[in-house]
Amino acid sequence: MRTSQYLLSTLKETPASAEVISHQLMLRAGLVRNVASGLYTWLPTGLKVLRKVENIVREEMERAGALEVLMPMVQPADLWEESGRWEDYGPELLRLKDRHDRAFVLGPTHEEVITKLVANEINSYKQLPLNLFQIQTKFRDEIRPRFGVMRGREFLMKDAYSFHLGEECLKKTYQAMFDAYCRIFDRLGLDYRPVIADTGSIGGEASHEFHVLADSGEDDIAFSDGSDFAANVEKAEALAPTGERPAATQALSEIATPKVRTIEDLAKFLSLDAANTVKTLLVLGEATKEHEAPIVALVLRGDHQLNEVKAENLAKIASPLTFATEEQILAVIGCNAGSIGPVGLDIDVIVDRSAAHLADFVCGANKNDMHLTGVNWERDTQNYSVSDLRNVVAGDPSPCGQGNIEIKRGIEVGHIFQLGEKYAQTMNCGVLTEAGKNQILTMGCYGIGVSRIVAAAIEQNHDKYGIKWPAAIAPYQVAVVPMNMAKSARVKETAEALYEQLQTAGIEVIFDDRKERPGVMFADHELMGTPLLLVIGERNLDNQEIEVKNRITGEKSMLAISDVMSLFA
Ligand code: ATP
Ligand code: MG
Ligand code: MG
Ligand code: MG
Repeated sequence: MRTSQYLLSTLKETPASAEVISHQLMLRAGLVRNVASGLYTWLPTGLKVLRKVENIVREEMERAGALEVLMPMVQPADLWEESGRWEDYGPELLRLKDRHDRAFVLGPTHEEVITKLVANEINSYKQLPLNLFQIQTKFRDEIRPRFGVMRGREFLMKDAYSFHLGEECLKKTYQAMFDAYCRIFDRLGLDYRPVIADTGSIGGEASHEFHVLADSGEDDIAFSDGSDFAANVEKAEALAPTGERPAATQALSEIATPKVRTIEDLAKFLSLDAANTVKTLLVLGEATKEHEAPIVALVLRGDHQLNEVKAENLAKIASPLTFATEEQILAVIGCNAGSIGPVGLDIDVIVDRSAAHLADFVCGANKNDMHLTGVNWERDTQNYSVSDLRNVVAGDPSPCGQGNIEIKRGIEVGHIFQLGEKYAQTMNCGVLTEAGKNQILTMGCYGIGVSRIVAAAIEQNHDKYGIKWPAAIAPYQVAVVPMNMAKSARVKETAEALYEQLQTAGIEVIFDDRKERPGVMFADHELMGTPLLLVIGERNLDNQEIEVKNRITGEKSMLAISDVMSLFA
């Protein structure tokens, strides 16, 4: 590819709208452009990366025995009524009508369509097990699309669904998928952890999430420092042994006793623990008589003008910095309205994820061993209430019995799940067994966020100059960068010949044939993260040499032109 014929679209300035580094770099390096909230156009460079991720995923799925299909993105409402999710799915499901007034949805996932397909297509136990996958656009009307393609509304997912005659067979495929996922994330060159995920009512180790470790991650995952136990925080909490809580958790569970019934009680409690620092409790909202509005308070350091804010302004708690400076905020506390009842207040600690610098918010009293770290919150879709305080905190004994819990941030890039008969039962998906009886099938489902992976890879691989792509997904393997080609026939000839040679050898090469200053060229290729730069300068040609710059290690070395192919051996 010649840059003169390419759409580089690099930006010098960091767009103000982008909060996390991957989003900033994806815009600056010309990978994507925003169309509307949560909707993106992939530009040529970005699309190359996306396709590479997709191909690695496809290769490993096929290697694990899954078969590719392609289902429609638009799905009839009937299928969703049949499964019960037309009622249950909630506002992330985008519903639409066609010209005949028939209802449809934009697929956020494809269990309904695939279960119906298999119910119609598969009649005999002899055709099982079966594992079908697709790489397809999904639409989820996320309440808060953010971080670029990391949480888009339209995004690319690989989703697979397996069908079995029983749990034993499902477990085998589940393990095969688990292994395939590990190979995929290994090949992508990512630092990731498979963690046990919460399955709600199904229970057991029937679900795993795959998380790429990054501070910008929206999930908390708990590890043991003494074994290979890893779980998402909800699951670690469900497994956690009781009775051995460190001081911080106890302090908060004390707040959650019936003793604390009003904001005044709460202020009193906290002032006692941090008498020297807590002077003000900024009440953002109070429970109404009907117990409808949540109580939310900011605990502030030092004097602060007391400021009552009504419940309708609660949306602003998405950024406590609206009300006070970072130094002033000691803790942000919320109480879930739903739990204000005879059992007393249920105190939650809010961590603001919209402000990156607050991501590591430490909560609780301002005293050693009285802090909670790594706590999480989720905003209820409409009500701005906060989720229950997660009980597992750093330093807790690991549920596996070995070591203590450490909590890190992760980006969920994959999720595998043993569904059991959930969809097959309601949608009547069964086959005739050997004994001639109808048997409902057992299912598994397996998702990977293909487009999210592109952003997650950047979160882990960048420096102040730009992206440092893992080789497997770099848009180009090498850039040919001639210095002042317009002034030197020798430089031009060498660059053209090298470009030709690399192309013929099937290497993905980008040839910078623009009439730009060297500084501009280097900045663009560093931003785009091309792993190798071949710099052709007039002087070095006296020795028939070029300079090789390694973007990943930063190393520079001289190389005889005749040896150039040795770089790709
Ligand atoms: P999250 O917890 O981030 O909302 P999820 O648990 O709702 O994700 P799944 O239903 O498990 O997502 O979907 C499988 C995969 O699809 C996820 O592991 C994630 O990598 C990806 N994914 C989900 N939602 C989005 C989104 N809005 N934008 C990009 N990728 C997404
Ligand atoms: Mg989700
Ligand atoms: Mg999730
Ligand atoms: Mg998930």
